[in-house]
Parts: sequence; C-alpha cells; structure tokens
Amino acid sequence: MPTHSSDLRLNTAGDGDVIDLTERVEAIVADAGVQDGAVSLFVPGSTAAITTMEFERGGIHDLRATLDRLIPREGEYEHNRLNRDTNSHAHIRAAIVGPSETVPVRDGRPRLGIWQQIVLVDFDDRPRERTVVVTVTG
Ligand code: ZN
Repeated sequence: MPTHSSDLRLNTAGDGDVIDLTERVEAIVADAGVQDGAVSLFVPGSTAAITTMEFERGGIHDLRATLDRLIPREGEYEHNRLNRDTNSHAHIRAAIVGPSETVPVRDGRPRLGIWQQIVLVDFDDRPRERTVVVTVTG
C-alpha cells in the first residue's frame, strides 16, 4: 500500500490556541493522488493535541471554557512541583484529547462531516512551533 508522508509546520500562540488544519490536509491528500484510503495526523509533543470539531468562535470558546473548568491551570499538580514546571494542566489536556486522528479518504478527499474540521490544539502555556506529521495511505 503506497504511503505519502508530509509535515505541516505551524507557529501557535499556545494557551488553547486552536488551528484549523482541514484545507492543508485536503491539499496533502490531493497531492498524494489517493482516491480511497486514509489520512492520519500525529503531533509530536506532550502538550498539543489533534481532534475534530466544528471550527467556529462559539465552539472554540466552549471547548476552552470546558477544559478550563475540568482541568484548571492552577492546582496541586505533582508534575509542576517535582519539575518546577507550570504546564501540568497542558499535559493532562493533551493526554485526554489525544495526539492523533485518522480520517478516511473517499473520492480523493478526507471524508469529514459538513461542519467538521480537523484541528490542532496547543495547550502549552507559551507560544510554540509545532510539526504535524501527516501520512496518507491508499
Ligand atoms: Zn511540563
């Protein structure tokens, strides 16, 4: 099965920055020339995540607000205490949302819902440079 690999490089603002990757992923799938297969995305790093959502202002606000309630920035975190670090909340959020997604490819396009986008979420507490590894198989 042929595999096409491509890296997306992005600068994020950190702190829950949500970046829509959908058009870039569609372009990589088109370049790969795969009609039927799958595209997978993985972000190396323990404070960022890949997921899908409806990418619009309200949805982004609600995702951030919900994670702020569930996993507050301030708290008694062993990671911060043991390592003199400040981003334990970011590690936990990234672990729960997860570092990867796989989307089926049909007719040369990621088979997403109409209101569904592929997003990178950077939870770290500072701006970061990120690489998203995109692999198309088919
Ligand atoms: Zn840390």
